[in-house]
Amino acid sequence: MRIIFNDLMVTGNFALLAQILPKEVCDWYLAIYVDAIEWVELPNTAGMALYANGGRFTSKPYIASGAYIKRMSNYCNGCKYKPEVRFGETACPVTTLYWNFLIDHRAEFESSPRTRLMTANLKKISDGDQKSIAAHAQYLLNHLNDL
Ligand code: SF4
Repeated sequence: MRIIFNDLMVTGNFALLAQILPKEVCDWYLAIYVDAIEWVELPNTAGMALYANGGRFTSKPYIASGAYIKRMSNYCNGCKYKPEVRFGETACPVTTLYWNFLIDHRAEFESSPRTRLMTANLKKISDGDQKSIAAHAQYLLNHLNDL
């Protein structure tokens, strides 16, 4: 069994990709975990998972696609979505939102040597497919509660 991701990595990754307000994510963690304590939860959530404190904890946002989650865990076994598909009915929402996040923040990612490689992969995706990713991501963002 390969499980390397923990809860914070997976849910924090999704919250960042879904562009949920850090305050709402912090409140959610405090509400669902009985052992969550604010002075521990806040820096981990805002600083590590959401890159919401100006990069004082981490030098880059840690984002992952569904394909990466599949490679590093067994979470995708049996899921109705396909981690490697970027848009469309069978696309993994994490993958769609991951590529959409890179498209949206391309300039910031390209400005740092630590993140430039991630946007380099964007160049391999046609303009048409990038438009489809953005459109599908917008649909997902408008229907987060239905996923
Ligand atoms: S394929 Fe399913 S389980 Fe895997 S990351 Fe995507 S939504 Fe999550």
